[in-house]
Amino acid sequence: MSPEGAGETAKGQTIEEKQYLVRFNADTKSHLHVLDPEICMTKCPDKICTIFCPADVYKWEEVRMHVGYEGCHECGSCRIGCPYQNIKWEYPKGGHGIVFRLG
Ligand code: SF4
Ligand code: SF4
Repeated sequence: MSPEGAGETAKGQTIEEKQYLVRFNADTKSHLHVLDPEICMTKCPDKICTIFCPADVYKWEEVRMHVGYEGCHECGSCRIGCPYQNIKWEYPKGGHGIVFRLG
């Protein structure tokens, strides 16, 4: 395991701090949907979406999955990473979503 604490990057910045390097134009509706919350609860003890998502979008809150879609980096990993294909993933509607600042 890396010496950094959970959620910290190699330079000691948290994911939240790194998020300030990008901009989001969040839609009012989520482009990410957990299809069957019961599957998360009963069949997926490791809740691996909370691990593989690079933007910490998925947070397990005792009995439900909180989906912070506004911070999604649109990498598409959750489309293939959920072992139960339990996440419906779409691109945000045109004009919404992440805006990378280059340079
Ligand atoms: S990986 Fe899929 S089944 Fe598991 S908690 Fe996340 S959304 Fe639910
Ligand atoms: S597309 Fe990538 S950043 Fe967005 S929720 Fe899925 S894993 Fe996280």
